Amino acid sequence: MGNGSNQLSHLPMPPWWEAARKSSIEKRNAAQKSAFGKIASAANEADQKAAMSELGKHEKVLAEEFERQNNAAAFAPGVGLNLAGSAADQQAFLDMVRREMARSKSFHDLMMAINSDAAHPVHIELYPQNTLQVFDAFFGYGAQGVDMVDFAQLPVDPPPGRPEAMTQGENLAHSMAEAQAGTRLQMIKERAYPLAHADGITAGNAYRLDRGQQSARSSEVVSGLQITFDYEAGGKTIYRETVTRDQAGNVTGVSGKNVP
Ligand SMILES: [Zn+2]
Repeated sequence: MGNGSNQLSHLPMPPWWEAARKSSIEKRNAAQKSAFGKIASAANEADQKAAMSELGKHEKVLAEEFERQNNAAAFAPGVGLNLAGSAADQQAFLDMVRREMARSKSFHDLMMAINSDAAHPVHIELYPQNTLQVFDAFFGYGAQGVDMVDFAQLPVDPPPGRPEAMTQGENLAHSMAEAQAGTRLQMIKERAYPLAHADGITAGNAYRLDRGQQSARSSEVVSGLQITFDYEAGGKTIYRETVTRDQAGNVTGVSGKNVP
């Protein structure tokens, strides 16, 4: 499948790129400095070798980080990803995808796999509002609705004091993994949805781990116009997110609290 409905001719360098690159280079320099210090002061050859090997590990991690940043900055819909929606929504969606690819290895790997898989194309319909669903809508066979207005209600980073909060990136990873699962399952959406949704939760939790969050999404309970998401670490709930919506499916509020 081509990307006939994509309306973007080119993408500017994302605003985060320079800062992300600088932070990676600073981390590499600090790792080098520490390793060189240890090598210089090593009491014996074994200690020296250990310091060298530690440096090698750091270099590998940083090389992967650079590669992710480059792939994220250059990311544009390929043979496996079709976007539909207004040009502004496509731009906002891709800005979000690129930002999250740069800072999550699991999400980066997922997007690179989707984007190059011509046999299993994913179709993302970007809704300005009113999906009747919260955040996204699963249609099966790779088709997924993403509600950009609902997504905008979520923070880009966990707010101060609530490190376990649900973020845009977690839900983006969820939506994309769920859409991809639909291409593989080839079942009507009612049968495919629970399986695809489970893949979405797994991807969201992998994203959370990449971002240094401690807990994983463990349950969700719908009660009227409210959905409560619990996050668990070490077998107990440590964070609870409450999402409220109106009758049309628009998210009207997101409020979380740490569970003591
Ligand atoms: Zn889902």
